[in-house]
Amino acid sequence: MSCDFFAQAAPGVRTLSPYVPGRPESEIKREYGLAEVIKLASNENPLGPSPLGLAAAQAALAEIARYPDGNGFELKRALAAKYGVETARITLGAGSNDILDLVARAFLTPGDEAVYSDHAFAVYPIATQTAGGRGVSVPALPAGHAMAYGHDLAAMRAAIGSRTKVVFIANPNNPTGTWLAPAELEGFLRELPEHVVVVLDEAYVEYMAPEQVAPSLAWLERHPNLVVSRTFSKAYGLAGLRVGYAFAHPQVTDLLNRARMPFNVSLPALAAATAALDDTAFIARSVELNRAGMRQLQDGLRALGLGWLPSAGNFLCVNVGRSGRQVFQALLPRGVILRPVDNYALPDFLRITVGSERENAVCLRALAEVLAA
Ligand SMILES: *Cc1c(COP(=O)(O)O)cnc(C)c1O
Repeated sequence: MSCDFFAQAAPGVRTLSPYVPGRPESEIKREYGLAEVIKLASNENPLGPSPLGLAAAQAALAEIARYPDGNGFELKRALAAKYGVETARITLGAGSNDILDLVARAFLTPGDEAVYSDHAFAVYPIATQTAGGRGVSVPALPAGHAMAYGHDLAAMRAAIGSRTKVVFIANPNNPTGTWLAPAELEGFLRELPEHVVVVLDEAYVEYMAPEQVAPSLAWLERHPNLVVSRTFSKAYGLAGLRVGYAFAHPQVTDLLNRARMPFNVSLPALAAATAALDDTAFIARSVELNRAGMRQLQDGLRALGLGWLPSAGNFLCVNVGRSGRQVFQALLPRGVILRPVDNYALPDFLRITVGSERENAVCLRALAEVLAA
């Protein structure tokens, strides 16, 4: 090749590390000749998709010769009705990652900064640098803190400068699971210069205990710089379809929609998400299964002498007391896929998604074997 395309690429893209997803089950089955593999690596719903969502997606397949509704009218109407937010405040995305990307592209110009925490969700630097912005990663709370490795809002506030246009906050954060008290978050919003757009990423909000949930939608009126992003990928079980959404001020929403590619959410995805929003029974079952599974995993981990970070999501970030990547590798031939988080500067940890009772049991057994070896 005579051309060095790296030299041609945008600097922010050249210096990015590619996002590393969880290893697919099919790949591990093939690689190790296994009939069954348990994947607790991507915070997916162990119950599968919402049945109402699945049925709607299947019915919608007959229509896929047509473009989807580019304005997502039905889904926006359903979201507006469920959450009491006007449709002029709603943006739809191909997953909430698309929303994060839209915010970065709508607001960041070269030299502008986006502030986020160390150990925060890996998509924030991708969205920031791809848009030409500069990511400012702020040290997290220290290891001994009750919310160890969680966002340090005071440090994040102190990192905001004249070039800061965007702040990304994950509540709870992935991969740590740590969360922010509603009062702390509200204090942060109140102190923030009002031109700085804050993305409050609530991908796991359905799993949070009622007292943990921030009244973020009620804050929208008072804080026009607030963008609340959510997803159908986690509790609703629609990760493969790619649908997420944001609530924000109408003017911010207008800007996000200018930057949005037409037809970014597919026709089956719109249909599934609209139907799944009514599937309160499925969400209730998912939350209950998560609560029971969280207890099961914690009991098992405690018996193994392992500690973990506090989590408000459907996953646990576990301190394995040695190289998390080596433990991850040793689990693969045993048919268990977890998530190493050394790329999040947490080399001694492994992230475990809460699975079904059986999946959790298989995972704990395999983990016990590996740690004893
Ligand atoms: C999983 C996750 C998302 C959701 O991504 P989608 O694009 O909606 O699938 C967003 N933020 C965080 C912190 C996540 O862990």
